[in-house]
Amino acid sequence: MSAYHVPAAAGYIKLDAMENPYTWPEALRQSWLAELAHVDVNRYPDPAASQLSVRLRAALDIPADMGLVLGNGSDELIQMLAMAVAAPGRAVLAPQPSFVMYDLIARFVGMKYIGVPLRADFSLDLPALLEAIDLHQPALVFLAFPNNPSGNLFDEREMVQIIQASPGLVIVDEAYHAFADRTFMQRLGEFDNLLVMRTLSKLGLAGLRLGALAGPPAWIEEIDKVRLPYNINVLTQHSADFALRHAHVFAEQTQAICAERENLSRALGKLKGLTVYPSRANFILLRAPAGRANEIFARLKQAGVLIKNLSGAGGALADCLRVTVGTPEENAAFLTALTEAL
Ligand SMILES: *Cc1c(COP(=O)(O)O)cnc(C)c1O
Repeated sequence: MSAYHVPAAAGYIKLDAMENPYTWPEALRQSWLAELAHVDVNRYPDPAASQLSVRLRAALDIPADMGLVLGNGSDELIQMLAMAVAAPGRAVLAPQPSFVMYDLIARFVGMKYIGVPLRADFSLDLPALLEAIDLHQPALVFLAFPNNPSGNLFDEREMVQIIQASPGLVIVDEAYHAFADRTFMQRLGEFDNLLVMRTLSKLGLAGLRLGALAGPPAWIEEIDKVRLPYNINVLTQHSADFALRHAHVFAEQTQAICAERENLSRALGKLKGLTVYPSRANFILLRAPAGRANEIFARLKQAGVLIKNLSGAGGALADCLRVTVGTPEENAAFLTALTEAL
């Protein structure tokens, strides 16, 4: 294996990691800092993050009878899920391409990873998925909803068929919920193997590292057994609580990003030779003219714009690039550089 590589981004217009491009208004920043001034960092954090959990339950609309466990980003929750069920010969299954950490983490814990190819339009290949589930009996199935890196929502009735056919847990990963407005959260409890995962990262708090996993309490209690006791640090607990009390700021930013996504998609659609995939997330997947993705990526970088080059993955992602929706100014700079590169 090789370590997860994060490219240096200093000085670039950073459109590679699905971050919210907006910082906090100055007055909000000042009242946040005033609150943090009272936090005692000499003490360990609340191991259960009780106050934050109450706040999150309300903010994420988690049904009262469901359990909740928090992670240092949803990355850590994926790791906890894998550690909780890992055993020789057991499998993690997900549509392919999807979020790379499902594959990486499965391998960290010694499980098999089964990637089932999506169709050419990145929709689920239900017969292939049902067959793979039957064959491999996966302990975990991950469905990113919307999917990363394709940006689309899967068909909900097909997802339900996957949940019903799965012998193990099915985790609906709603990292991009804020931009898609579709959720399985209210369907928790309808299936005894369904869990829903969220994160505050894509909403504008990527630096805090906070993910949430909700589902039937009996399952959440088992997963909580592999959680390190102080995984949510005291600054994150207070900062996330503060941020959720000012959720309107993030809601406005989310609206602006969704509007910009539509503007950017429309502008990209006018460029010759590009395929632009419809997105319900805060990024857009593009397919460059055959064989030109590496060159276009390099030219954008030269022009000071950093996006994600997915073309190395080959297969369904051959010639593909992914761009995060930025501010109107950033998107304009990206469009100018891309037009020149093309
Ligand atoms: C970004 C992303 C995550 C990870 O989010 P963190 O909470 O920052 O660890 C999880 N799932 C998907 C599908 C993502 O795109």
